[in-house]
Amino acid sequence: MSEKFDVIVIGSGPGGYVAAIRAAQLGLKTACVEKWVNKDGKTVNGGTCLNVGCIPSKALLDSSWKYHEAKDDFDIHGIEAKVKIDVKKMIGRKDDIVKKLTGGVAGLFMANKVTSIEGTGKLLAGKKVEVTDHNGKSTTYEAENIILASGSVPVNIPPAPVDNKIIVDSTGALEFTQVPKRLGVIGAGVIGLELGSVWNRLGSDVVVLEALDSFLAIMDQQIAKESQKIFKKQGLDIRLSCRVTGTEVKGKEVVVTYQDKDGKEHQETFDKLIVCVGRRPYTEGLLSEDAGVKLDERGFIYVNDLCMTSAPGVWAVGDVVRGPMLAHKASEEGVVVAERIAGQKPMMNYDVIPNVIYTHPEIAAVGRTEEQVKADGEPYNVGVFPFAASGRAMAANDTHGMVKIIAHAETDRVLGAHIVGPSAADLVQQVAIAMEFGSSAEDIGMTVFGHPTLSEAVKEAALAANGHAIHIANRKKRK
Ligand code: FAD
Ligand code: AMP
Repeated sequence: MSEKFDVIVIGSGPGGYVAAIRAAQLGLKTACVEKWVNKDGKTVNGGTCLNVGCIPSKALLDSSWKYHEAKDDFDIHGIEAKVKIDVKKMIGRKDDIVKKLTGGVAGLFMANKVTSIEGTGKLLAGKKVEVTDHNGKSTTYEAENIILASGSVPVNIPPAPVDNKIIVDSTGALEFTQVPKRLGVIGAGVIGLELGSVWNRLGSDVVVLEALDSFLAIMDQQIAKESQKIFKKQGLDIRLSCRVTGTEVKGKEVVVTYQDKDGKEHQETFDKLIVCVGRRPYTEGLLSEDAGVKLDERGFIYVNDLCMTSAPGVWAVGDVVRGPMLAHKASEEGVVVAERIAGQKPMMNYDVIPNVIYTHPEIAAVGRTEEQVKADGEPYNVGVFPFAASGRAMAANDTHGMVKIIAHAETDRVLGAHIVGPSAADLVQQVAIAMEFGSSAEDIGMTVFGHPTLSEAVKEAALAANGHAIHIANRKKRK
């Protein structure tokens, strides 16, 4: 007889491993199946986020920023430094962090008594999971509830087939052993901008080719425009309305052909090309035909608001279902599903999910953009506070960008916050907490903030929404 669990999770990314730990905490007999095999042949937990996503990209962003600061920004502080890069060591440090964190998940599984099952899981009819291990041996398990958390993989486009030598995806771009002289990036989305920034700081001449004619089209456009100006100053050559139509690898370089908005063809030659045109849900080999789980028209597993699939007792979370492809969204869905299985009644608030681009300065958003609020026809006030007016930003010589807060004109309820500037990721979280509590801009403005902090820019933007910021001339003056 096959072993029976209360919960089997397929996939141990931030959606799956968090769901498994929460289910085990709630007293459910839980197993988590993972197929990811490392270069050393060992199975590792953590999924995209820990192995080739959030964590390694941030490790390289932080290292490359330190190099840039030491090389170009210390001088103004009266510090002279001679700096040199050791790319292999930088990549090695990143690999060590990944190892520690993925090992940490294994430790958490043990501490919480989650059974780790190595191999590829396939959902069968009747709440059964067949796991095929790396030697091809299959075992079938049963569970009362199954959580699918198989995540996503990079999108490939025919004009730029990844060869993992010269043309790479985001995973390959975390492994370069030397700084490419000329680096092309296809796609000015989150991942393209982050990876383009890493190698730009380390000395590559970076050209980012983006098919759309507006920059960061889904972000608040005032913040997007400000960010574009900052990136230009940093030397990132971002070309909008440029659709890549072909590539030709010639020896150690690649010739990229792209069309501008008038359909005119151009060519550019690079030493490396990173393809960052988005990610797609990953369901290959996951579902038997009679499993009863439906996909939507874009290939995501179809789920309702509670992450229930079309098969009773089968749930799905994270990148493989609708919604933003973000680690924290995946984890929160994992918690909600585990608690629902245990009989609790949590709800996920999809309206307050922070979204961050970890460039420098960071770009961060929560809630609706000004364009969305306008389109919804709601009356609103906007408060903007530039970091150029922040004492703390000045002290740190980091004054680019602004905080923008949007509040309902009648109720003053905060509808959104959009920030480009130092520590934007952490600052936007303060507004996210305020929004979770249904706060008004006045509530934020009346809160006492420590001085001098970057956070004061949040308070001042909230005050500005009602026309009484202290440290700038208000656009709208009210009592
Ligand atoms: P994944 O992390 O993709 O994990 C899915 C797991 O399931 C994998 O381990 C896979 O091997 C396993 N699996 C799949 N099928 C099976 C099967 N049949 N059997 C067994 N195992 C299976 N998000 C952020 O929020 N912040 C960031 O800063 C950020 N930076 C990123 C940077 C990069 C370069 C990339 C690529 C992504 C980044 N993301 C970031 C996105 C984030 O990584 C994903 O949103 C997140 O990992 C999704 O979690 P998940 O659990 O749904 O899936
Ligand atoms: P994201 O989905 O945020 O990772 O962003 C991916 C970006 O890649 C989007 O802005 C797309 O417009 C862009 N993109 C997709 N295909 C191409 C292409 N052939 N040439 C240039 N940009 C592209």
